[in-house]
Amino acid sequence: IWALNNPMRMAGWLLNDVQRFIASAEKIEDLLNTKPEIINEVKQSNIRHMNGGVEFNQVSFSYGDEQVLKDISFKVFPGQTVGIIGPTGAGKSTLVNLLSRFYDTTSGAVNVDGLNVRDWEISKLRDSMAMVMQDIFLFSDTIEGNIAYGNPDASLELVQAAAKMAEAHDFITALPEGYDTIIGERGVGLSGGQRQRIALARAILKNPSVLILDDTTSAVDMETELRIQRTLKSLLKDKTCFIIAHRISSVKEADLILVMENGQIIERGKHKELLAKKGYYYKVFMNQNGNFDGQHNGEDVIYLN
Ligand code: ADP
Repeated sequence: IWALNNPMRMAGWLLNDVQRFIASAEKIEDLLNTKPEIINEVKQSNIRHMNGGVEFNQVSFSYGDEQVLKDISFKVFPGQTVGIIGPTGAGKSTLVNLLSRFYDTTSGAVNVDGLNVRDWEISKLRDSMAMVMQDIFLFSDTIEGNIAYGNPDASLELVQAAAKMAEAHDFITALPEGYDTIIGERGVGLSGGQRQRIALARAILKNPSVLILDDTTSAVDMETELRIQRTLKSLLKDKTCFIIAHRISSVKEADLILVMENGQIIERGKHKELLAKKGYYYKVFMNQNGNFDGQHNGEDVIYLN
């Protein structure tokens, strides 16, 4: 158990990106009290650059007795976008958490660029991925500091460029102190959608090979989401991207859409293929107007083309 014997490495591990987005101190405390299961045995030197090819090969995963992922297999090439949809509890977040080895598979393999993630140097693996999670963690720091977190050398110009891409620049500059505004627990309150856009800017600034967006624009209105999507499209050209979403509109452009239910992939394909199947995806699309949990908000108008 390397981490317990090695407090410095434990500290480094905790500072890793995955933890940067953990929402509450409570969760960090839980983590500290959890015996780490991830053992970093580096079998190959990992000086290599991550291209972002991802393969899940018969992956199953259990939290203790509860099997959450069952026999998941799929493959994506570098630069492709994978959309993942399905009801709450289907296993979507768990699936992407296996990528950065937040957990290890119970059986089967997750390979990145043909190399099992267990054989990647863990810091290289995590530094090459950025994850924007539902629960966004912001530090008691300036907005600039929050966006630059993990990239302390980034110039204000780069921070602003990332914020523009995340559709955050306008609301930031409208604040009295702009990028110097202190946010986080003791700072000004931001709306859920604003917090999501700060976290997105942080991920964009990191310039990762694999970008994981876990329900990232759920708190953003439809119009802003569409603008973000348009920007992301050009940004994502050479990046592999996983988009977990409730709105079908968020995933309909993806190279591969995985529909999950009860830990399994029940349908897969591109948007039009899935509609043509007239199965689950189609039913959700028609019945719920593209909104998975049926919380129709009146803005979700989905057009067939
Ligand atoms: P989704 O992202 O599709 O909503 P999750 O991957 O978050 O699904 O969860 C899948 C299942 O795993 C759920 O039943 C959930 O309760 C369970 N689960 C998620 N995280 C944990 C955890 N840390 N410990 C135990 N069970 C968990």
